[in-house]
Amino acid sequence: MLRRARALLLGALLSIPSTAAAQILTPEAHFGFRLGTDRRLASADAIERYFTLVASQSDRVQLLDLGRSTEGHAMLAAVVSAPENIRSLDRIRATNLRLSDPRTLEPDEARQLARTQPLILAIGASIHASEVGATQAASELLHDLAAASDPATLALLQNVVVVIIPSLNPDGQRIVYDWYEKTRGTPYEGAPMPWLYHKYAGHDINRDAFMMNLAENRNLARFLYGDWHPQVFLTMHQMEENGPRFFVPPNTDPIDPNSDPLIWRSAALLGGAMALQLQRDGRSGVVSSAKYDYYWPGFEDSAPIGHNTVCLLTEAATVDIASPVIVPATELRAGFKGLADYRPQINFPDPWPGGRWTLRDIVDYDLSAVRGLLFAASAYREQLVQNFYDLGRRAVQKGRDGGPFAFIVPQDQYDPATAARLESLLLAGAVEIHRAMEPFRADGEPYPEGTDIIFMAQPYRAYVKTLLERQSYPARRSAPSGTPERPYDVAGWTLPLQMGVKVITIERRFEPPSLTRLTEAAIPAGAVWGERKPSWWVVDARGNGAALAVNRLVAAGAAPSWTLGGIDGSGFHYGPGSLVVPHSKNAEPVIAGIAAELGLRVEGMKGKLPGNLQPIGRSRVAVYKPWTASIDEGWTRLVLDQYEFTYATLTDQQVRTGNLRSQFDVIVLPNLPGDYLTAGPSGEVPPEFAGGLTPLGVDNLRAFVRAGGTLVCLGASGSLAIGAFDLPVRDLASDDERLFVPGSIVRLDLDPKQPLAFGMPQETAAFFAFSSVFASASAAGPTAAYADPSLAAGVRTIARYGSEDVLLSGWLEGEDRIAGRAAVVEAPIGEGRVVMFGFPVQHRGQSLATFRLLFNALFTSPQAAGRK
Ligand SMILES: [Zn+2]
Repeated sequence: MLRRARALLLGALLSIPSTAAAQILTPEAHFGFRLGTDRRLASADAIERYFTLVASQSDRVQLLDLGRSTEGHAMLAAVVSAPENIRSLDRIRATNLRLSDPRTLEPDEARQLARTQPLILAIGASIHASEVGATQAASELLHDLAAASDPATLALLQNVVVVIIPSLNPDGQRIVYDWYEKTRGTPYEGAPMPWLYHKYAGHDINRDAFMMNLAENRNLARFLYGDWHPQVFLTMHQMEENGPRFFVPPNTDPIDPNSDPLIWRSAALLGGAMALQLQRDGRSGVVSSAKYDYYWPGFEDSAPIGHNTVCLLTEAATVDIASPVIVPATELRAGFKGLADYRPQINFPDPWPGGRWTLRDIVDYDLSAVRGLLFAASAYREQLVQNFYDLGRRAVQKGRDGGPFAFIVPQDQYDPATAARLESLLLAGAVEIHRAMEPFRADGEPYPEGTDIIFMAQPYRAYVKTLLERQSYPARRSAPSGTPERPYDVAGWTLPLQMGVKVITIERRFEPPSLTRLTEAAIPAGAVWGERKPSWWVVDARGNGAALAVNRLVAAGAAPSWTLGGIDGSGFHYGPGSLVVPHSKNAEPVIAGIAAELGLRVEGMKGKLPGNLQPIGRSRVAVYKPWTASIDEGWTRLVLDQYEFTYATLTDQQVRTGNLRSQFDVIVLPNLPGDYLTAGPSGEVPPEFAGGLTPLGVDNLRAFVRAGGTLVCLGASGSLAIGAFDLPVRDLASDDERLFVPGSIVRLDLDPKQPLAFGMPQETAAFFAFSSVFASASAAGPTAAYADPSLAAGVRTIARYGSEDVLLSGWLEGEDRIAGRAAVVEAPIGEGRVVMFGFPVQHRGQSLATFRLLFNALFTSPQAAGRK
């Protein structure tokens, strides 16, 4: 230990460059232009080549492969540090992992280790791929660190192991590059793209950190919580062009109450160091303590906070991809949380005066900020390393004290596949889950062997507690009677509610039974009951697992139906919506898998098929893809892919051409208002992407429904159907300022007799974010708002918001405006129908409690049922 301490000191004093600067090719020589030059972008492949080249030329650099992206590209990183650290990375990582878990390390030894252990600091660039500046700056940062010979940089390289991830979204990086190159020099240069900069998520790639629907976030979680566990993680973004030039931490209110205060203080220290360096470098317009809050744990830079990593965010004012912008002084604005006016104030002491703003400006600001951060990280290395251990130690201690002591995941779940999904994403987030090997009691209740327990005495207590408990949003207003300050993202996300999984909070300490630690989430297998050689099977088709069952049966050539009446089995009643599957050789292995892998109860039956069946699962589905780059459209595709649906993508051109009914049984419209869908993208876009559905396209959708098609309207797109079909329904929430729900979880009651609600419990939870509340438009006068759409001829209400105690998690104002009102309605029209989901049933691939509503609408297209 001592020898190591002396080496640190000597290195700093002697400042012997390990690799001569001249041996490292400069970015300018490699790329052929100075990074950040107007209207020039370095491509993903060229950046990868540069990182590989520098790693081969420098003994301060080692390459890391973080895994593959959604579309199979490498997520690359460079580890940069003093050569002796690079040679000892395995030991540094092993020590770091010991420090991350205080249960394996005594405080004295931790103090010893902190004296010499280098800090691990990661920098992730441009998860939002259109925010190209940080990705462009990454190569220059790598070169500066690898080639530096000044004593200050050499000293910091001995104290800090820097991990540079040049792109957190390598697919999007390529998509944006291609679009920019294609439009450069045309009237559309630098315009927003008509499609998403990620296959599924676009901008929401940074709203998936705890859910890990996306490969990129699973890779990042493995890096952050498993292999490396940096003490500090900086992510670099861009914001609107007409406000401050640059944001540095600390963020603003509210904060997650589960986070240790030391996290916020550390972020303020390091953010202050960034601001200081920016100011010393003469870079004006830097703001802090404003706009961005870390209340919600779903960002790539907020989820790690609960893992005791100090997270830092920077945002540079944007340009038009790589094209410069001119911002006149008169157009400069503030007007957000923490910065009401654009004028000097304590968190914004030096406003930028306006003028020309370029990609190189962003690169310069990014590099100044990182330089300030690295100097501070180096200077405070020992404290930050020690804090990392202390944070974990305090988390474990808090958990031992109870309040809560544990969360319990019982084996008896309505939807076993979804319960396994919840456990699986917690495990990927480095949460420890144990399985009881014997019966036990907790809070006075008995639990059987096989029950899963999440004890709070674990280092990442804050992370798991925040995900599993109910949120009570600390509402704030700009003035006592003023407008409510909206959260930067959402106000409630409680995963057991959003996913429909039973999780029990145990407040008081209990004696743990004998335990085994789970390494993967497994569904308790269901048994195949009844006849060994059946004529047909019946499946208890509950939850999302049953949707997979239907799609797998159809893919194997089987012909599943719903029983509309219910079936009595041996000692078990299969309710309406249970699956009936005629026996076939192909179906046999699928049926076995449904029991074993999805945990559903299956029973073999003899004799004739029962009556009252509705064939399902063979609809030809299309998802409409507007050229406004709809993130909701992307998440819809992700959810359909996850549950093994087949579907086509439908463009404006196809809708305008018409003849839709001969091609499709169901068309899904993403969550965008009807007038947006009809008008198409605003602003300048190449003509092939302009115009939207147009009135002609809406006519064709109308003909599609009248001829027997199902039009599924997600969220705000219901307004298109209401207008197009003159439905006797209106959306009360659209002009009701007393209803304020900025992303919360609300109670939902379902009508179990309606096929659209089959496979769902009678009561569940819905995610609601400025969503719709349906009422009958036929009733006139003051009672109109209270009339149910079912009063209108033929319209059926499938689901309602709870009649009391509506809010389950988050923030809701105006409960009486929503209580007991219609949330999902189905309107028969001609031979077909419209299904309107007032709230996001498939919200970001997170609201698994309501996925089945969407799946049922796809399964049950009336005219598709008899199709061969
Ligand atoms: Zn961003």
